[in-house]
Amino acid sequence: AKRNGKNRVCFYDDSLSSMPIDRLRMETELCKAIATEQLVLYYQPRLELASGKIICLEALVRWNHPVQGIIPPAEFIPLAEETGLIVELGNWVLRSACEQKKRWQEAGIIGAQIAVNISPVQFQDLSFADNVKQIIEQSELVPDFLELEITESSIMHDMDKTVAILERLSAIGISISIDDFGIGYSSLNYLKHFPIQCLKIDRSFVKNIHNDQSDLAITHAIINLGHSLNLQIVAEGVEEVSQLEILKETKCTTIQGYLLSPPISADELEALFLSDRLV
Ligand code: C2E
Ligand code: CA
Ligand code: CA
Ligand code: CA
Repeated sequence: AKRNGKNRVCFYDDSLSSMPIDRLRMETELCKAIATEQLVLYYQPRLELASGKIICLEALVRWNHPVQGIIPPAEFIPLAEETGLIVELGNWVLRSACEQKKRWQEAGIIGAQIAVNISPVQFQDLSFADNVKQIIEQSELVPDFLELEITESSIMHDMDKTVAILERLSAIGISISIDDFGIGYSSLNYLKHFPIQCLKIDRSFVKNIHNDQSDLAITHAIINLGHSLNLQIVAEGVEEVSQLEILKETKCTTIQGYLLSPPISADELEALFLSDRLV
């Protein structure tokens, strides 16, 4: 609101170069969207290859804009990160995932874990671990249903601090996965210090495993690394049967991707569950 005054005159004037104004308008609208429940979570299933079961659902936020319709996260998460709104947005996502889990639990359906994406900015927030604990306590759920997906950029700032945060979360039963694994620039040193349970191989490697020797080699190496460290390994972005076949051969443990299902609404997920296509 404080930055509004000067810009308000040309707020709706399309003849001016409108970049900063669009940004400002979007920031204001996003702030309102969080407060008025315009955000919605979709869920993408993660399949365990050995059991054929859906063991986890990744919560992915969308903005159901009253005029523009569904806006994908790539169009508003960066803004939320720049403005600090991500902390509030992230808390909404966590609360909302907990509420959904609670409803499914009370209905006796969909026992899968839920994975929630955590932005590096949110992770650096001083009250991050407290927020997570508090939100779970309010939900009265047992915390072990929850997985937090963090990227390498979240953890490289201050190793000691990160270990402390992750250990606090682990101690209450929350699991941690490294998202987009392989595209960060960090050393692998952290893997032996951090309590993590899962590596998610970035889609950019999985995409060409069926026709690119280097991508196949890298994917295979990550899978082997994951096994040696006793971690779950998720291949992200699996779209083709030929990719799935290779991932089975290379002993990947779980997959996500359009081949199985895109992210879908909670209602669609329940329909799948009730039609017996989801365990
Ligand atoms: P991500 O965490 O790497 O999520 C995976 C993205 O890949 C999702 O896009 C998903 O819809 C998409 N995807 C899944 N399977 C396939 C496939 O087979 N092919 C292709 N081409 N894409 C696939 P989405 O939902 O648009 O999310 C994009 C990114 O936005 C996420 O990447 C994550 O970084 C961020 N994001 C989404 N929800 C949240 C959230 O609640 N909090 C935070 N901090 N970030 C979020
Ligand atoms: Ca993710
Ligand atoms: Ca990812
Ligand atoms: Ca990503």
